Amino acid sequence: TSFDQFGLHPDILRAIADSGYTRPTPIQAEAIPVVLTGRDIMGAAQTGTGKTASFSLPIIQRLLPFASHSASPARHPVRALILTPTRELADQVAANVAAYAKHTALRSVVVFGGVDMNAQAAELRRGVEVLIATPGRLLDHVQQRNTQLGQVQMLVLDEADRMLDMGFLPDLQRILNLLPQARQTLLFSATFSNEIKKLAATYLRSPLTIEV
Ligand code: AMP
Repeated sequence: TSFDQFGLHPDILRAIADSGYTRPTPIQAEAIPVVLTGRDIMGAAQTGTGKTASFSLPIIQRLLPFASHSASPARHPVRALILTPTRELADQVAANVAAYAKHTALRSVVVFGGVDMNAQAAELRRGVEVLIATPGRLLDHVQQRNTQLGQVQMLVLDEADRMLDMGFLPDLQRILNLLPQARQTLLFSATFSNEIKKLAATYLRSPLTIEV
């Protein structure tokens, strides 16, 4: 198996090569083709399996038609939203997304709590296709109208079990209510507890389950 088999754009393949990856990991081999078709997935994967690239690479591929060098914020609505439980994970995911999208015109921004909102607000207001966020801080920015979520086509719930453990369910519900119904949702969790299954039953549409 190689990364060539997925039909990814050369600008993405170049970034993969820059990262030093030669072969997809098992979750990447399973998830990338499915995510490219637009289907929802429920992935059971721990950190260290390569799960970040398994959703980031196909997200970037699917958003390439919307990449624009325009300076107008209106041309850069949020199209993919990646939610994580912690700032550390948000930072890691954002670094990965930035690396994989570096040869494209797609913009990505990360926002999390515990730091001043102003610099994040300025970045959001320029427009961004891929937004990586922790739930509470994202809602703060939405409330302040620094961004809006009405054009989100792809949602990732990363480490969903930890988000529930940390009490983010009400925030998640608020955020999900702001998103279009017609979207692709990717849920990753180390375990599929009853709470996770309930969340998936409510917010995913006939997901394919992938376990590695
Ligand atoms: P993750 O599970 O997404 O946190 O990824 C774990 C680590 O594996 C990160 O440092 C990635 O940069 C790296 N990684 C992801 N995919 C690959 C791959 N196909 N080949 C080699 N390293 C990878």
